Amino acid sequence: MTSQKDPEATAVNANQTKVDVAIVGAGLAGTTLATVLGKAGRKVALIDPHRVHHDEFKAEKTRMEQMRVFEKLGLGSVIRPLVTPTTEIQVFRLGQFFQRKPESEFGFSYGPLVNGLREALPPEVPLMVGKIAEISTGPDWQRLVLTDGTVIDARLLVVATGYSESVRRAVGVERVEHSKAHSLAMGFDLAISPQEFGSRSITFYPKRVAARIPFITIFRIGNRIRANMFAYRIVADPWTQAFRANPQQVLLQLMPEIAAQCGNFTVRSPVEVRQVSLTTTSGHRRSGVVFIGDAFSTTCPAQGDGIHRVATDVDRLCSTYIPAWLETPGMGVDKICAFYDDRIKIAADATAMRSSLYAKAIITETGLEWRIRRLRNNTARQLMIIGRKIRHFSPRRALKVILEKQA
Ligand SMILES: Cc1cc2nc3c(=O)[nH]c(=O)nc-3n(C[C@H](O)[C@H](O)[C@H](O)COP(=O)(O)OP(=O)(O)OC[C@H]3O[C@@H](n4cnc5c(N)ncnc54)[C@H](O)[C@@H]3O)c2cc1C
Repeated sequence: MTSQKDPEATAVNANQTKVDVAIVGAGLAGTTLATVLGKAGRKVALIDPHRVHHDEFKAEKTRMEQMRVFEKLGLGSVIRPLVTPTTEIQVFRLGQFFQRKPESEFGFSYGPLVNGLREALPPEVPLMVGKIAEISTGPDWQRLVLTDGTVIDARLLVVATGYSESVRRAVGVERVEHSKAHSLAMGFDLAISPQEFGSRSITFYPKRVAARIPFITIFRIGNRIRANMFAYRIVADPWTQAFRANPQQVLLQLMPEIAAQCGNFTVRSPVEVRQVSLTTTSGHRRSGVVFIGDAFSTTCPAQGDGIHRVATDVDRLCSTYIPAWLETPGMGVDKICAFYDDRIKIAADATAMRSSLYAKAIITETGLEWRIRRLRNNTARQLMIIGRKIRHFSPRRALKVILEKQA
């Protein structure tokens, strides 16, 4: 990486573009940022090696809170047709019905979501398909040279390359691993009729922690019934191999209550498995460049905070920092640090990391403190279940049911 001079002073050729913001990586973070900045009249270059985002197993569900941020960013009308809403979440704990939450969640396949967003890019921000050959950054101008010779000069460089390391390494930052091989995310389709399943999503928490599984959630993506299950295990674990070989049998042993809700379901797709580590970045406080989404930090998918971090980064940059940074000359480290020191961003990242660590500890830690916490949580849940049953069968309610039947 070298320091970049003012492009006005250097020769301009046909393959040279000058923009306000160059975004490397057109996943969820890069594409939403490019769209919002483009619609605000900023000159943006968005670069990705692939025109079409492949259909990889990544986020498949998000919450209303994140949808509201996308709506605030003006992307609601693009995203809504790409997702399947649920109208309520049913929760099963300790082998029994526990709670009904009248909340909306949104199911989607990651590739089609990103591709739908790419199709909705404003005409002024076409996706540039290419690979980065050289990067130089500095307090005034950033330069990208693509392998086909295209040169892009930008006042600000945004790195949104997800888990990929090459661009991060070229800029000179490092991943810090907080929990290596923290968890496994597993995704598969269930052969259940969408009409029977309805518009709910169901979350089952296993009775015993020995399985090292926090939960499985079952929901709709269009007409598919999809399951996302998480495990505090590694890919090479014999349990993981056994699950892949016969997911149905393992599931029914672990949580027989699934069958009562989902009938005699079968697993009708291969089990997709992804190992996830918890990471942050070091050496990122430097002039001219910001790292967003998974290119900055990765957390456990079980907590569903990845999209929240992406949405928060994009929102903070678009609504506050980038407009202010572009108003005055230079892109020094003081400007860039204001984003990393933003209270809302720090809170989103810290909550995601903290809850990822806690969720694993409460299942896997064997020390007395954690056993007491588990006992306390399960006792409270058991009491809630008993309380609900008592309320359900109270004399007043029984009388009301009898009177209703007689009427
Ligand atoms: C299995 C799994 C399940 C998950 N489930 C959930 C969930 O349920 N809820 C949730 O909120 N989050 C979940 N997450 C996290 C969520 O998917 C991520 O936080 C989010 O997708 C990150 O988006 P991004 O744009 O930062 O990265 P990505 O979507 O990975 O985008 C990176 C982009 O950079 C491009 N790129 C890579 N290298 C280069 C390069 N050298 N030059 C140019 N471009 C490059 C890639 O082609 C890609 O388009 C899950 C993650 C995984 C792995």
